[in-house]
Amino acid sequence: MKNTLIAATLTLAGATASGAQEIQVFPSGSAASTIASPENFSGHVVVDALVPPPIETPAASGLVSFAPEARTAWHSHPAGQMLIVTAGRGWVQREGETRQEIAAGDVVWIPAGVKHWHGATDVNAMSHIAITYVRDGRNADWMELVTDEQYADR
Ligand code: MN
Repeated sequence: MKNTLIAATLTLAGATASGAQEIQVFPSGSAASTIASPENFSGHVVVDALVPPPIETPAASGLVSFAPEARTAWHSHPAGQMLIVTAGRGWVQREGETRQEIAAGDVVWIPAGVKHWHGATDVNAMSHIAITYVRDGRNADWMELVTDEQYADR
């Protein structure tokens, strides 16, 4: 009787009787899209969260869609970031280096602490899934916007 009660309590909390958590499926479109903040992004950028905020994972995740000329501000990630380009063509640039073109299917790894930006090209939209690892509760350190001169510098 006691074991049955414990099992029922765990199931209510989203766990199985063995203590493992359930697999959860979040249907596409279950979270509203948001417009990225002009403090950290230039141009029109739409962010779709991939996992509802109450779910704790070791990384933040989102589908980020950039209109032509839209881009992030300069920033770095305390624990690194994986970008998976899902559509279009874009650019990624590390400070002090030439930018690189990225296209659908490309995967980009940005190591911890590297100052960089990413966004669309000047003529194409670009969307990527961003998997951004968390350290001490932070996943990004935001800096100044990428100026039009920096963006136009090939
Ligand atoms: Mn980044």
